[in-house]
Order: sequence, then structure tokens, then C-alpha cells
Amino acid sequence: MEILKTINDAQEYVLNQRRNGLKIGFVPTMGALHQGHISLVEKSTTQNDITIVSIFVNPTQFNNAADLEKYPRTIDADCKMLEAAGCNMVFTPDEKEMYPQKDERVFSFNGLESCLEGEFRPGHFNGVAQIVSKLFFAIPAHNAYFGQKDFQQLAVIKQLVLQLDIPVNIIPCPTIRESDGLAMSSRNLRLTPEHRSNSTFIYKMLQKTVELAKANNPTLIKEIIISEFNKNKLLKLEYFDIVDNTYLQQTDFFQKDTIYIACVAVWAGDVRLIDNIQIN
Ligand code: AMP
Repeated sequence: MEILKTINDAQEYVLNQRRNGLKIGFVPTMGALHQGHISLVEKSTTQNDITIVSIFVNPTQFNNAADLEKYPRTIDADCKMLEAAGCNMVFTPDEKEMYPQKDERVFSFNGLESCLEGEFRPGHFNGVAQIVSKLFFAIPAHNAYFGQKDFQQLAVIKQLVLQLDIPVNIIPCPTIRESDGLAMSSRNLRLTPEHRSNSTFIYKMLQKTVELAKANNPTLIKEIIISEFNKNKLLKLEYFDIVDNTYLQQTDFFQKDTIYIACVAVWAGDVRLIDNIQIN
């Protein structure tokens, strides 16, 4: 497995493989890898000849300096996991390489970027669009893999690719969970044991939402689930919403032929966790 640090080297590597007629899969990450990331890598290895993973903790998508500083960095363990999973090249640029000068670009995605996560993390998706567009330039892949755990990010990236005419297929991948249901996340490493065991509550509430949706409208479901969260002393709910999976609009009633997603953000101590589930 090769480890490359500059955009020039990475581009040259990819273009060489493409000249040889090989299909390239790309998995962008911020490192501190777990089985969720590895599932994306494994999917890429089954669909492509060459799989590339980037590891870069992108400062422009953090709206909270402490969160950026505390973000776990485990590069040696990450590389071992990637090699075992069949990754061919890891791109690990530093900040100067990705941002030789301040990125002043401001993206707009018809409101996709300002609801849900966007409301509580202003500028987050602009930072995501900045780095992902740069990474797609450095790694001109055929296919790029993103987790449905970050389903709003997925919606934003699909729009980004359309707006900028980037010739890459965006492949969504299912959320991988711990055996007790907690969605895997690099941030889970920072949970206290008490918060860790309590965090299974999040997935239980998402499953309850699916059950309730069989006979109730979204407004009532929201009331019930929010009041359940408010009874939980260890988790602080930031939002719980039910939206359609394309425009991420809230709804008062379920329409046939539309896919709805229940999505949630909570604070478990000083760790922010997000999760979602498809309702129908
Ligand atoms: P991150 O390193 O958190 O930026 O995540 C890199 C990629 O891995 C993103 O496309 C995430 O959606 C995806 N990912 C993170 N956690 C999971 C998970 N539990 N299951 C599936 N994909 C995930």
C-alpha cells in the first residue's frame, strides 16, 4: 500500500492507473478509522480495481475549535487497517497542501446545507464542499463512497457533483453499528463508559420511530420521541426531525412514494452524536 502526501503525487498515481484502464474507487475520511469506514473500503474493493482512501481532518468543516482539537488521530493504526482491507493507496496531505491559501468559496445547495446539521453547525457543509471538491480534483476516481450515517452530507455531495460537473459516481453505503445498535463513529472513542452505555438509547428511539410511523403522523411521532429524549438525563437532544430524503424538508403527513428519514443529534457529555434511520 502506498502512502502519498502531495496532490501532485496522488494525481499522478491515479492518472497512471487510469491510463492502464483500471477502475478507481475513492473513500474520503478524517481517519480514526473503524468498521464503518472499512465497510466503505471493502465495497470499493469489490467494485473497482484500485481503492484509494484519504485521511485528512478538515479544519474548515469544524465550527467548534475544541471539537477539531479533540478529534482523534490514529494514523498508524488506520494504515494497518487499510492495508488489511485491500486499500492500494492512502492520501494523507497536511493542511498547507490542501489549503495553500484561504478557501473563500461559498457554496449554496438550495437550502440543503442550512437545515438540520446546518442549523446547529453553521458553515459545516460549506467546509465539507470545499474539501470534497479539492479531494475529487486530487483523486479523479470513477466511484466515491460515502456513508448514509451522514445522510445530509451525502445529499450535499450529490448536489456538489452536479453543480461542478464532477465526473464521479457517488455510492451510498449503509450505516454500520456496534452490536448494541450505536452507530460507529470516530467520536465514540471519546464517550465516558456511562455515556457509552446510555447512547444505545439513540438507536432505540430511531427504531421506535419506525414502529410509530406505521400508525401515526410525523407531528405526533416527533412529540412522543422528543418527550422520551427529554426524560433521558444523560443525553441532551439537539434536534429530532422527520424529513424526506431528497430535499430534507420536514413534513406533517407521510406521502406515498416518498422516502422519509428520521434524524437526530444529541450531546452525550461533550461528545456530539448523530444518527438516522429510513422510515419506510
Ligand atoms: P468521517 O471520517 O467521519 O468523515 O467519515 C468518512 C466516511 O465514512 C463518511 O462517508 C461517513 O459517512 C462514513 N462513515 C462514518 N461512520 C460510518 C458508519 N458507522 N457506517 C457507515 N459509514 C460511516
